[in-house]
Amino acid sequence: MSWLIQPRLINGPFDDPGLYLDYRFGRRAILFDLGDLGALSPRELLRVSHVFVSHAHIDHFIGFDRLLRFCLHRPGPLHLVGPPGFIDHVEHKLRGYTWNLIDESSVDFQLHVGEFDGLRLDRFVVFSAQHVFERWEGRPPELPPGIVYADSDLRIESIALDHGIPSLAFGLRETRRVNVRRGVLEARGLPKGPWLTEAKNLLRAGIVDAEIAIPGNGRVALSKLKDDLFLTGPGQSIAYVTDTAPTSENAEKILTIAADVDQLFIEAVFPERDRALAEAALHLTAWEAGRLARKARAKRLVVFHHSARYITTPDALRAEAMLAFESAETA
Ligand SMILES: [Zn+2]
Ligand SMILES: [Zn+2]
Repeated sequence: MSWLIQPRLINGPFDDPGLYLDYRFGRRAILFDLGDLGALSPRELLRVSHVFVSHAHIDHFIGFDRLLRFCLHRPGPLHLVGPPGFIDHVEHKLRGYTWNLIDESSVDFQLHVGEFDGLRLDRFVVFSAQHVFERWEGRPPELPPGIVYADSDLRIESIALDHGIPSLAFGLRETRRVNVRRGVLEARGLPKGPWLTEAKNLLRAGIVDAEIAIPGNGRVALSKLKDDLFLTGPGQSIAYVTDTAPTSENAEKILTIAADVDQLFIEAVFPERDRALAEAALHLTAWEAGRLARKARAKRLVVFHHSARYITTPDALRAEAMLAFESAETA
């Protein structure tokens, strides 16, 4: 069974951070951070429905303009979540342009922008193209604490790390995967229809003790259909951690959001020998990144956000992180 989401870093490790999370089925994508998006095609940008921004330092937010440029003529909302103050940052970006050519007759493109205070989405506004991006204060979506997005396929958690300012880390967890076995409906003479979605949703939620009404077949116990008709498996989990001071408080939070993930994407800005620089710049060392990945029991580690001062030894930071990831607790 394959995973729903395919994550990939947009740029090389010395360039701006950003993770593109592409849905295998359906034309949708999610972005973690808005650094330089030049490597994404217009088609890839148009697929983006949700964006989660760690913080508004320029290397994490400069891509907003390119994304807006392509999505402007696409109907529907583009959802963005960032740390406290993020709504003002988005509004200032919008105010940087002249909008005399859009009005009520324009495409109904909207920006839905939320701020995550470390516990919940506490502020939410809408900027609508048809209203010349005037700010409209709305009510944030109701979500459990620590969650910034949820649907039937996945949920996204966030935590606020200390980077001098809050820097949000994100954890995406797919719900359990449920697929219909190939050819089995035809073989059993069962019709396609909404009952299949209902059954899949119940199984995803871990509910087996239920009956499903199948047209022409009456009510059937889901427990009897489960193994015959469906393939189920665990969903994938991904964590994205960047721009965080090497403190024990941050480490504790990172271990929570990255616990047992399939893939951990984490910054490795300085080598451990330059730890003083890392502490001054409020970033992680490569060794710390690897150590955290191991302690979180991540299955795969990908590092990024290397400082340009180490470009002459391009693989050294990755190698240091991998050594810490794979080595025993002794170091
Ligand atoms: Zn950064
Ligand atoms: Zn930063």
